[in-house]
Amino acid sequence: MQRRDFIKKVGAASVALGTGLAMTNVQARADFKWKMVTTWPKNFPGLGTAANNLARLIGEMSGGRMQVKVYGAKELVPAFGVFDAVSRGTAEMGHGSAYYWKGKMEVGQFFSTVPFGLTAQEMNAWMYHGGGLQLWTELYDNFGLIPAPAGNTGVQMGGWFNKEINSVADLEGLKMRIPGLGGEVLKRAGGTPVNLPGGELFTSLKSGAIDATEWVGPYNDLAFGLYRAAKYYYYPGFHEPGTILEAMINKEAFNALPKDLQSIVMNACKVVNQDLLAEYTARNPAALHELLTKHKVQLRAYPDDVLKKLRKISNEVVAELADKDDFSRKVYQSYKQFYDNALLWSDISERAYLDARARV
Ligand code: CA
Repeated sequence: MQRRDFIKKVGAASVALGTGLAMTNVQARADFKWKMVTTWPKNFPGLGTAANNLARLIGEMSGGRMQVKVYGAKELVPAFGVFDAVSRGTAEMGHGSAYYWKGKMEVGQFFSTVPFGLTAQEMNAWMYHGGGLQLWTELYDNFGLIPAPAGNTGVQMGGWFNKEINSVADLEGLKMRIPGLGGEVLKRAGGTPVNLPGGELFTSLKSGAIDATEWVGPYNDLAFGLYRAAKYYYYPGFHEPGTILEAMINKEAFNALPKDLQSIVMNACKVVNQDLLAEYTARNPAALHELLTKHKVQLRAYPDDVLKKLRKISNEVVAELADKDDFSRKVYQSYKQFYDNALLWSDISERAYLDARARV
């Protein structure tokens, strides 16, 4: 018995040693070393850590044949320089969200989120099984890029204000950080939208450079300390009902990978896409509780007549965007058709259940 135990121990030690050596060798001989630039502060909870997880998964799934080094905003390129950097091959990969690049292609905003549009669950369905990802791939091909959903925030919060929003008139003259189509909606409601990277929100709000801001939801908003710069926290985030975070991959770099590594990259994106939604769903409740109890944040719902007006404007904004060119029309038609079909099912499944759960 003793001898057998001894052999077992020696065996285990050899295995452990062998693993250690193997790991070192694997790291040294990675066939592909990629850089991933991101629009997020390095290691930012949820957003930045999703990029880290994506890189880690690619490394693990490939047995170390592929290594991806993650860069936070400004480490290699500025937050809003990510798209160009990956497009020209400065980095092989990027992590951001498509509405940040609306200056290059407005239609890309459909692949982030649409005010009063699809939820996270529905967006993923449109992407993977409703033709959304094919259209997105077609669009990014013009820039030498391949897109992939790589995270979803779920329904976001409306944002942080220093005054109550009791009517649409309260939005007039309001300078608010709000990206994408939501920004255009605010503009038509009389406000001034600005687009700032996350890392600049707290200082801008605290200094009064902006009057209000939205970011993501309790988990991320708590991390930036936004409650120290504004006291009213509005919901729901009508402007971002299920925002997709994207991975963008330089097409040339992707094509240079063997087929199995290509599959690993795309499937790692898919894992992170689902996992981040679970992380937000898990972390938002505790963060909201802390905001309300510890930091005495004032939670407010947008009044119905404000939402009604914003919805009317949203429909106009989306219809105009859809009418820009043939490709935009194609994307809109696909999105709209999916949305219309999704409504009936969503109404008698998720919504009916949530209503029933709250009511009976
Ligand atoms: Ca947001």
